[in-house]
Amino acid sequence: MMKSINKVNKRGSESRMCIVRSATMHKSLQRWNSCSQLLSLPPQDTHVRRIHVYDFDNTLYLSPQPNRQFYTKPLLGTLYGGDLLNGRDWWSEPLFLEKSFNQMLAIEDESTREQEFWNKEIVDLARSSFEDEETVSILLTGRKEELFGPLFEKTLKQCNVTFFNAVCLKKPGVGNSTMEYKTAVFRDLIDEYEGTLEELTVYDDRLSQVEKFKTFFDQIGGTFQTMAVPVVPRYRPLDNEEECRMILELAGPDNVRWTPRQCGFFLNTQSHKNLLSFTFSFFQKKYNWKVLPEYPMYIPCCQLDQTPPADQIARIWTNDQSNIDIQECLQKFQSQDPSCEINFNVVEIGYCGRAHQRIHVFFRAEPCDKSRYLWSQFNKFIVVGRRYDSSDDNSLLRRVVEGNQSSVRWVKLRRPIKIKTYFGHYARLDKGAKL
Ligand SMILES: [Mg+2]
Repeated sequence: MMKSINKVNKRGSESRMCIVRSATMHKSLQRWNSCSQLLSLPPQDTHVRRIHVYDFDNTLYLSPQPNRQFYTKPLLGTLYGGDLLNGRDWWSEPLFLEKSFNQMLAIEDESTREQEFWNKEIVDLARSSFEDEETVSILLTGRKEELFGPLFEKTLKQCNVTFFNAVCLKKPGVGNSTMEYKTAVFRDLIDEYEGTLEELTVYDDRLSQVEKFKTFFDQIGGTFQTMAVPVVPRYRPLDNEEECRMILELAGPDNVRWTPRQCGFFLNTQSHKNLLSFTFSFFQKKYNWKVLPEYPMYIPCCQLDQTPPADQIARIWTNDQSNIDIQECLQKFQSQDPSCEINFNVVEIGYCGRAHQRIHVFFRAEPCDKSRYLWSQFNKFIVVGRRYDSSDDNSLLRRVVEGNQSSVRWVKLRRPIKIKTYFGHYARLDKGAKL
């Protein structure tokens, strides 16, 4: 460990000395680097034989992405590509990355920090690229320099991620896309180092980008070897509540709102998956997964936007014990404590609206433990799901759980499917009335 630190330090000070001498050398690194304090030019007489380029988001760093379960499809689409957040989208608004950086920096132990927030395998590769005297190692990201430059400079210095010869963020006016910008950087690097270059390798988590790099490399030809290496993307989401709060604040209450609150018994992810797998086979794979309900499916115990009476919440929570603390149960329910677990058996599947690749599916369930205290506004326990897009029909769901939708065809299952649920409530953020 000490050895490699010494080497890095040595190289760092050497290269600082070389900045003046090599003003005319390594021009492309100087031109594209965005963080002056992180620029580390190789010595003047270096024969650069290899260029290793590392993407940042989800390749080197476990950058947060929006948590899909919190948003309806239309809103999620806008978060990725619209201007809802202060005129920006998720990737161009610095607050999300800054929040993640702050959490990372709050961890004192360097190896824990690296394990939790960085892709160690790729970080180690970048380190060894930097330590190799004949390799230029570059961090290259489509994040905009004018928005993220200072944040990258400050954070990478602070957490000792100083093993790149240059840290390059997208400069204004260069290319219309990340790919156009990155290939402009490549062309410049190749122009400068072509005489000695033997290898150019780029690491990226997005397969679409990797494919485009390959096409670009095929086009440019050259006597050096090229490689575009796909990296399995890794993420680390922000704290749930924090993320929703930030979205609400940045977008403003007129542009974003909660969907009507759903209350009842929510399937865990495995049970949700099992039920959808069953449905998929039941219809002999005729319907695409995309037309089936999104996570989570649930058994409503009251109408949308309503909450069960407080005493019923407490009786469900405690399985109708005497001397219960209603306030305590209510607080657990409100805070989405998942500890009130209840198992059901799915005994029937129901469906309607079978046309043009569309279908509505429902399931009738029975509690596994018949003596378990349960409460519902409705006569039956019906599992329903939503797609959180414009195809959701709240009035149909209501008629089905009320038993008033005669067009539903119910089929008894040969063998019941056990599902695990927890008692609680759920809502997503959706585009507001103004959008
Ligand atoms: Mg990436």
